[in-house]
Amino acid sequence: MLIDTHAHLDFPDFSPDLPQVVARAQAAGIQRILSIGTDLSASRRAVDLADRFPSVYAIIGWHPGHVLDAPENVVPELTELAGHPKVVALGECGLDFYRMPSANGGTPEDDARLKVVQDRVFRQQLDLAATTGLNVVIHTRDSFSETMRVFAPYASRVRAVFHCFIGTPEQMREVVALGSMVSFTGIATFKNAANVRTTLQATPLDALMLETDAPFLAPVPYRGRRCEPAYVAELAAMVAEVKGISDVELAEATTANAHRLFPRLG
Ligand SMILES: [Zn+2]
Repeated sequence: MLIDTHAHLDFPDFSPDLPQVVARAQAAGIQRILSIGTDLSASRRAVDLADRFPSVYAIIGWHPGHVLDAPENVVPELTELAGHPKVVALGECGLDFYRMPSANGGTPEDDARLKVVQDRVFRQQLDLAATTGLNVVIHTRDSFSETMRVFAPYASRVRAVFHCFIGTPEQMREVVALGSMVSFTGIATFKNAANVRTTLQATPLDALMLETDAPFLAPVPYRGRRCEPAYVAELAAMVAEVKGISDVELAEATTANAHRLFPRLG
């Protein structure tokens, strides 16, 4: 049994054939799919999908790329959604300095303002995680040290998975030292991603999870096409090879890790 710990099933890419996408995942041995929010309406859609499909669970939250649309305080609405029994975590939340306003005609002041809002919305979700006992899915891009600075003070109360991890072995060790985990996407199968495989190889077996980030980042041999949760199978095969363990061993470890990080997962 495998779990896709991070997919955007609510994206329009899946509207033509979502029931088939979910069925194909099951047929490929992916028995749970965690559909993750990027803003409030996406989070609501994830919860609706969890109601509709027994194998789908929801993660709710605000992605750092969407925080300018967020209310001053995201906690009340997320608190309400978090009461749903199939909500297993908060996210994806974090910091993303990759696309800053100044790269698109904005000013350095616009960049600074966006960073302030990202920081606030990230902390609000960490606070909510600490009070609800839910863990978090962290998105960090071009912002690893800043993200760690915000997250570390919460680490005794909240565990995180740093999703779509492409960091160095040293960065992975910083995450693991806080009792948190990293998860790998189809990038680990890309020819030009030897550095990601180096980090994967160094990652302890009890601190790693698998995800598609579908509809993005389809693994080889589907690279460039729409990604879907069934492709965790191809990713798992590569990860097992890099780790030098059997497919069964990898499946057991990553599934146990997902249940530890997401205790509400049935
Ligand atoms: Zn994502």
